Amino acid sequence: MNELTRRRFLQSSAAAAGALLAGCGPEAPQVSDDVLALHRDARVLDLHLDTLLSMRLLGYEIASRHTNRLPRSPFSWHMDLPRAREGGLDGAVMGLVISPREVREELMAPLRWLARLEDERGIDQTLLTLDVLDEAAQRHADEMRFCRSGSEMRAAMDEGRFAAFAGLEGSHGIESDLQNVHAAYQRGLRMIGLTHFQASSAAYPMTVAAFDGRGLTPFGRDLVTEMERMGMVVDLAHVNEAGVEEALGLVTRPFVVSHTACRALFDFRRNLSDAQIRAVAERGGVIGLCLARGFIGRPGVEGFVDHIEHAIRVGGVDCVALGSDWDGAIVPVEGLGDVTGLPRVTRVMLERGHSEAVIRKALGENALRVLTDICG
Ligand SMILES: [Zn+2]
Repeated sequence: MNELTRRRFLQSSAAAAGALLAGCGPEAPQVSDDVLALHRDARVLDLHLDTLLSMRLLGYEIASRHTNRLPRSPFSWHMDLPRAREGGLDGAVMGLVISPREVREELMAPLRWLARLEDERGIDQTLLTLDVLDEAAQRHADEMRFCRSGSEMRAAMDEGRFAAFAGLEGSHGIESDLQNVHAAYQRGLRMIGLTHFQASSAAYPMTVAAFDGRGLTPFGRDLVTEMERMGMVVDLAHVNEAGVEEALGLVTRPFVVSHTACRALFDFRRNLSDAQIRAVAERGGVIGLCLARGFIGRPGVEGFVDHIEHAIRVGGVDCVALGSDWDGAIVPVEGLGDVTGLPRVTRVMLERGHSEAVIRKALGENALRVLTDICG
């Protein structure tokens, strides 16, 4: 299949799937007007949202309202601008999910499938995805803005526009060339996660036990240093323990772990230990808490808020953020099956006695602080 045929095939399949999924409304938020007023007034920012994947591959229209008929399926639409407005989500780091050209043993099945569909170089996919985001932002300039800094995000939010920030998921998207980092930066990329599901030019994934003990590669170390110099946010989500440890010795600025949860509450390899949470907090960084059931353990919004509270107990109120992973082939926890459920997080935090100030930090102010610290 050539590039155009492939995209047409994918987009017509998506239209058929969309027709199948259409017709069922979102779950009602079930929150009081007081809760909604606080939630809407707060700046709500998600550190990891994967909607760009469907936008790039399937022609998903971010400005149109979609309905999610299969809340337990990982292949349903979790976010679009009309529902983001309803759920009070004001901005997000939009993940650039790039398929690897070299398919290795450790790669899980759905990504192998994706990898076979894509044959462009990593940097070409990265630049193409940045174009997709840029075009969407231009097409819907009244509703969203492609932001290059934390202060641009604040301005967009204050204007009532969705603040989109670009974060690459895995350094295979810049291959192993710092020139590619500069090229992507020119086009608006401001965050890079060092690896994804397979070993990259920079680091090794947490999900593969065979890589335990291997830290960053020499390129990975150069990349962290260069990103800090350029004013790009380092994301250590997916990186294995040895890699995180090595990165902690290198970083001099705050950084993020964009989508993870607390291992003390749920023993899953992608979750952070208490020592790692403390290390992120000590460096002024933030942890984006993921909404996937596979990260959380105890069901529902209550289970998700348990992780927010644990991270606060261990690392303090300044280290927590949202990092949903919606539209990233996850099955979200009950009650957060799409973006319209977000006010429930505010409701449960209020019910558990958290102050308005703490809630605002967790919902977005902490994440915005780090993006502003690093990118201006
Ligand atoms: Zn991820």
